[in-house]
Amino acid sequence: METQEASLYDVVIVGGGLAGLSAAAYLSEKGKKVALLERGNLGGRAVTLKIKNFAFNFGAHAIYGRDSSKLRKFEKELGIHIDWQDFQPNKAKYDIGDRLTDMPANIQGLFNTSVIKGLGKIKFTFEIFKTMLHVEHGHPHLSIEKWMEEKNVSEDVQEMMLTLASSNFFTREPERIPSDVFFNYYQRLFRTNKPVAYIGGGWQALINEFVRIIEKNNGAIITKAKVESVTAGDTKVTEVHTTQGSFKGEEFIFCIPPKELEKIVAGTKIEHFIKQYSSYEPSYVYVYDIGLQNRIEVPYTYIYDKKNKIFITDVSHYDKTCVPEGGQLLQAIAYLTQEDLQNKEKIQEYHEKIEALYDKHFAGWREELVVPRVSKRAAAQEIKWTMNQEPMPLYLPDYRNVFFAGDWCEGQGQLSELSFSSAYEVSQLVLQKHPSSLI
Ligand SMILES: Cc1cc2nc3c(=O)[nH]c(=O)nc-3n(C[C@H](O)[C@H](O)[C@H](O)COP(=O)(O)OP(=O)(O)OC[C@H]3O[C@@H](n4cnc5c(N)ncnc54)[C@H](O)[C@@H]3O)c2cc1C
Repeated sequence: METQEASLYDVVIVGGGLAGLSAAAYLSEKGKKVALLERGNLGGRAVTLKIKNFAFNFGAHAIYGRDSSKLRKFEKELGIHIDWQDFQPNKAKYDIGDRLTDMPANIQGLFNTSVIKGLGKIKFTFEIFKTMLHVEHGHPHLSIEKWMEEKNVSEDVQEMMLTLASSNFFTREPERIPSDVFFNYYQRLFRTNKPVAYIGGGWQALINEFVRIIEKNNGAIITKAKVESVTAGDTKVTEVHTTQGSFKGEEFIFCIPPKELEKIVAGTKIEHFIKQYSSYEPSYVYVYDIGLQNRIEVPYTYIYDKKNKIFITDVSHYDKTCVPEGGQLLQAIAYLTQEDLQNKEKIQEYHEKIEALYDKHFAGWREELVVPRVSKRAAAQEIKWTMNQEPMPLYLPDYRNVFFAGDWCEGQGQLSELSFSSAYEVSQLVLQKHPSSLI
């Protein structure tokens, strides 16, 4: 294995998903000499796949609460260009069986929706205001289900809160979310003017922008470089070893999931620390996207099937670049439980339920179908928020030059916001240690 002797990096970043890319872009912009090592192609779970001229995002690319997001901070501080496409709440509907009703994504939607009625609406609005005013904080050891029981929250308000949480946390089991995580999330979301936004050009546009900044600052991006092991002393990591040689650094940021990390630190003192986190349960989803030759015009861009916990987004309504001219790209996502994953028939059932939902709301899609794309078990978030799981901290108490970022780490928000916020935070920690451009 060849060591790149000439290249001692200020910061070696392992993993080229959104966390690794954003940390590498930020630190290189601040004058650090960075190396970004990725085992495959850049993007991780945010990769965009082009099939027959349809650009499918492996994951959805909705950004929640964009005005207070860390992605917005990266945008401003790095000068990256993001083509924000704001979600239109009046085009978001709940399918409640026999009809469609407004999704209560904002106060107007709340008053128009028939999911919740009369007094329930007032009580629910009151719960939201308490959340906005920080009156409710919740508790890390109390699930939202138990919290609602303790507070005697009425049944229809409970159902509304759990339905919203299901779609925002990408989970079939919203009742297991710790109440503090739940309230922190809604405090941010209800205070934002931009609850949901999409990105023109999809995740790929964002990946390209981070790459542009890294390259402009002469950062090294090495793809097809799988990190296989590390050299660690008693208090420091000094080197990582990849399929393309070894890389020395002063600081290391690992932006790879804990299960993968555990393998590469095997035999070092770090191993036992990582082990505590590598048995995480991720939030899994079933994704079934379709690329259509011609648009099927309907008055909505988002449908949430409340009973089956499945949603469809007309991605091409927001991102015109993801389809060939006149085409349409619809994305359907079904939330899965851990048990569903073991049950092939159940998974097939989701497939059929999604097709039935397409039939119901996008009649004629079968005749227009150019290309379907399915992911049977995609990890939407590496760590699911439940009562028995804790996110991974951002650094090690004994190894002062080792940091972690990704959507399995401590941070703000959900999904990619956890990747961006942890990446932002660890970049700040590195800069605090080394404020000047010379490490
Ligand atoms: C179906 C789906 C829908 C989603 N929808 C949304 C959404 O609407 N909004 C939203 O905000 N987020 C969404 N997400 C979540 C978002 O995609 C993720 O949170 C984000 O992409 C995670 O980025 P990351 O960098 O933390 O991790 P990852 O993307 O997992 O990146 C880790 C990287 O490390 C690399 N790697 C692993 N091991 C090694 C090794 N040994 N050596 C070198 N490299 C290695 C991997 O190849 C990968 O590139 C969705 C995800 C999915 C799957």
